[in-house]
Amino acid sequence: MYDVAVVGAGPTGAALSHFLSSKGFTVLVIEKDPQPGIRTICGEYLPDPSSLKLEGDVASAYLDFFEPFIVHRMERIVMEIGNREFETNYAGYSVDRRAMIVSRLEESLAEGTILKTGEAFITARFVDDAYEVRTSKDRYRARYLVGADGFDSRVAKLINGSTTLKCDDLALAFSTEVTMEMNEPDVMRLVISESLAPGTYAWVIPRSENTANVGVGVRLNMINGFDPKRALKEHLARLNATVEPELRGRYVPAGGMLGKVQEGGIFLAGDSAGMTVPSNGGGMHTGIIAAYLLTRSLADDRPEGYVPSVDRVVRPMVDTGLIHRRAADFLLRTGLLWRTLRFLPHSLVEEVIRVERGPYYPLLKLLSSLYGQVRGKVGSYPACR
Ligand SMILES: Cc1cc2nc3c(=O)[nH]c(=O)nc-3n(C[C@H](O)[C@H](O)[C@H](O)COP(=O)(O)OP(=O)(O)OC[C@H]3O[C@@H](n4cnc5c(N)ncnc54)[C@H](O)[C@@H]3O)c2cc1C
Repeated sequence: MYDVAVVGAGPTGAALSHFLSSKGFTVLVIEKDPQPGIRTICGEYLPDPSSLKLEGDVASAYLDFFEPFIVHRMERIVMEIGNREFETNYAGYSVDRRAMIVSRLEESLAEGTILKTGEAFITARFVDDAYEVRTSKDRYRARYLVGADGFDSRVAKLINGSTTLKCDDLALAFSTEVTMEMNEPDVMRLVISESLAPGTYAWVIPRSENTANVGVGVRLNMINGFDPKRALKEHLARLNATVEPELRGRYVPAGGMLGKVQEGGIFLAGDSAGMTVPSNGGGMHTGIIAAYLLTRSLADDRPEGYVPSVDRVVRPMVDTGLIHRRAADFLLRTGLLWRTLRFLPHSLVEEVIRVERGPYYPLLKLLSSLYGQVRGKVGSYPACR
């Protein structure tokens, strides 16, 4: 019998395996892919703990987890909206996501973790004080079960039921790595453009002086008529990068956290719990932080401490991101953003980039409450059901 069965070996699962095994728990990690880390469709950007206002043990555990895999540091974020640029100081890093996952898992294997690859979690039930976990190949017993199985998580369905996700709450994002001359290698650049990235943004995340991760995204309700390859090519052409992009995309949940992230001895962390920040699609940092918070609660023998700690540290980032996303939806879908662009205060955009609750929070909250009026209305794009 294991102390903890972790489903999924993405960034969140690798962090759980790392933190739990270092605290002496016996851990089983179940991954359906033949090798962990092969789904590296990601911007591979992680904010510095200071940018997230993390403190104490949470800040150091978060940074320690990915620090050895940093390939590049950035100091600023620039957001382009139409003909205006909004800049904010915000420290963050490009990381080698695959190396981070593989190395952290390998270290935990040396500490006794068992990793089962090419094996899909099917279901679990509580029998005689433990969870009986059924996979595509075997059955296991564990005291706790953790879902780190990403978007559309099977573990999440055990405690939240089968929820129907609105297509407005889901994005598809496509990324590629390119070689190009970086004018500002310390800047992550985000571009709000309805042709490049309807309902999301296009990005350039430097990975060195002459390489970058470049991507575009689209909200699912705007996907009809959107050609990601064309958008990525157009985005690259604007950057004077003449490469033939390889098109690789993945879903990004953008609807906020699920109703329950814990029930009994079942816990959710990362994308499986909807911990992706809806306004920017970042979910590695919240997954790693949640993995640490869960480990801390279990190590203190206070599993009931997980939810309050998530509510204190992770939920504010996700909830604020949802308010910002909905406010932006309202402004974009009514065309107000473009009509008022020249009056848009720099500090308001800065607040949104930083996913903070600052002086503009009441206004953004008000705008987000009007989102219901434009749900499904996507300008010239047809709405999906
Ligand atoms: C193009 C793109 C760019 C992005 N850029 C960034 C970025 O720059 N920074 C950032 O923080 N976030 C970014 N994100 C989001 C980020 O990738 C996710 O939030 C993050 O991967 C979530 O990690 P996770 O471990 O919770 O889930 P996942 O990465 O989805 O991992 C889940 C794992 O569970 C496995 N699994 C699923 N079901 C089962 C099952 N039934 N049984 C066993 N195993 C299972 C999967 O194979 C997978 O390995 C981006 C996303 C996309 C698509």
